[in-house]
Formats: sequence, C-alpha cells, structure tokens
Amino acid sequence: MLACVIHGRDDLRVEELAAPAPGPGEMLVAVRYGGVCGSDLHYWRHGGVGDFRLKEPMVLGHEVVGTVVAYGSPSPAGPPAGTAVAVHPATPCGVCPECAGGRRNICRDTRYLGSAARTPHVRGGFAAAIVVPAEQVRPLPDGLPPRRAALAEPLAVALHAVRRAGPVSGLHVLVTGAGPIGCLVVAAAKAAGAARVTVTDLLPTALGYAGTVGADTAVRAGDPADPGWPSEVDVAVEASGAAAGLDTCLRLVRRGGVVVQLGMLPPGPSPFAGNLLVSREIELRGAFRFDTEFDAALHLLAAEPAFDALISAVVPVRDAESAFALAADRARSCKVLLDFES
Ligand code: ZN
Repeated sequence: MLACVIHGRDDLRVEELAAPAPGPGEMLVAVRYGGVCGSDLHYWRHGGVGDFRLKEPMVLGHEVVGTVVAYGSPSPAGPPAGTAVAVHPATPCGVCPECAGGRRNICRDTRYLGSAARTPHVRGGFAAAIVVPAEQVRPLPDGLPPRRAALAEPLAVALHAVRRAGPVSGLHVLVTGAGPIGCLVVAAAKAAGAARVTVTDLLPTALGYAGTVGADTAVRAGDPADPGWPSEVDVAVEASGAAAGLDTCLRLVRRGGVVVQLGMLPPGPSPFAGNLLVSREIELRGAFRFDTEFDAALHLLAAEPAFDALISAVVPVRDAESAFALAADRARSCKVLLDFES
C-alpha cells in the first residue's frame, strides 16, 4: 500500500509499505481522504512542529476518513465492514491525573496519529490502510459526505479552542489567522452564538475563505489603516501561530477579557506584551487538540454544506509532495486533501 513518510526536513516520500493487520480490539480502515495539516507541513519544512522534533521516519497524517475493512480477534463492537467512518486520532492513556480529571486532550502519555511527541513516533493516517483502536472510529452521520468529513479533526480543534474561551454567545470574537484552523474557529464561534466575528490575516485569499464560513469582518493584518480593525473585542483566539498574532490579541481584547492561544508558536520563548496581562487582568489560556468535540464536529459538518468551500483541492496520494507545496502556499489554498483511492 502507498503511504506518505517523512524522513526529515524537506524529505517527504510516497512509499510502498506492508499493509498492517489489526490486533485485539483494533480495526483495519481503508483510508479515503487525509487532510494536510499545518503540523504535517511543519514536519516537512522544518523537521518538527513546536517543540516536537522528528527522530525517525514517520507516516504523517491525523485527519483521516475511510471505510471499515475488518476487525482484529477477538472482535470489538463496531460498525460493519463497508461503513464510512472518521478516525479520532488520539488514544489517551486513561490513567494519568489529566485523564482522570476529564482533560484527556492534555494526557501526559497519549498516542496521537502521525505525531513525533513520543518516541517511537506514532504512525499516522496518510496510508491506504491503517489500524486503529475500534473505539476511536466514528460512523459518519447521515448526509455527511466523506470529503467534508475530513474536516472533522481540525473542526474539533476549533470547537475546543472556543470552549476554552468560555461562553461566547452575544460576544465579539477576534480570530487572528485565517488558515484552515482560523476559518474553522470562525465557524465554531458563530455556531456557539458569537454576535460578531472579526478575522485578521496578511493574505486576502485567506480572508476570503473565512468569509465563506461566517466571518463578519475581515481585516488585513499588515495594514494599520484597514477600517475593519475593532477598537476592542470580548474574546480573542490566536490561530496564526505567530507572536505578532498574540500581540494583536492582547492589545485588542477588552479589560478582563480572555485570549486563547491555539496556534503553535515557533519553538522556544515567544516575545509578547506581558504587562497587558497584568494591567488589564487579561486571561491567557492555551488550547491543545480536543476530546469529545470530535463528535460535535461531525454533526456540525453534516448540518452545514458551507464547509465544503474550505476544501480547496483534492490531490492523488502519488502527488503528495505537490499537495504539500499547495497546502503550504496559502495564497493558492485553504484545506488540501490527499485522495488514497485515485
Ligand atoms: Zn492520560
């Protein structure tokens, strides 16, 4: 079977690998689509993401949709062969203090598809067939096309970030960064009842995508004279992964407001206007991955065809490198999917 394996910085290969066999409690899934994420691009361009560095070749990918093929023995409960499914990429340990406290997304010993956070790295989902614990697989809700379902993982990330902000109903929310995650945060904030969502980005193309999923105001981040800049907002979600975005959030959130850092910042210390936290009593919160929001994401996607506009290209897996180059060029793309059946 074909798989996308990252061997190091700028060294992405499409390789033939032996198909895996499911063990006890596991399911074999034939992958249809895999969404290319910013973290996949970081492994490709920089050999790591955030503070996680690549130490050995790894199959990338954690945004995965496919169909059930078979179960290991003894067979766990689950949907029958042929069912279209989305794969929740996290296997939390279930026993650490965070898991016990109901915060499984920050489990200290989780396994996450296509992540170098632990060694040996966890094999990802950019392969024609993958084996996953059966309880991580979700049948697609009625009416949800597999292509759109490939957005479930990043939408779950966005839903979790908005949850971390607290109730946003009736509030003005700022989102810095209109990449795929920023656009999905826009949609998640609107779904949670935000009265107004303002989004910023350097690129007009990206701002256009944010408009398709409900952004009320789009602002050019590099243009201080843009008339769309708000004087202040109630909540800010930083989705660009740039320290400049965090700085914008801290300067625009109201006194006593909440800033959620969702974008993965460059490795090491980040400069930001820390004194604003003090004098304005701003609350700065991190948001990392998600847990039960995956199921909510599938239902939100099933109900809203507008999400289709964020999928800017579907590329055969044999052209994975050009798919990655396209996904890395935000002037030409939003979410790029790999197709494992064409
Ligand atoms: Zn745990």
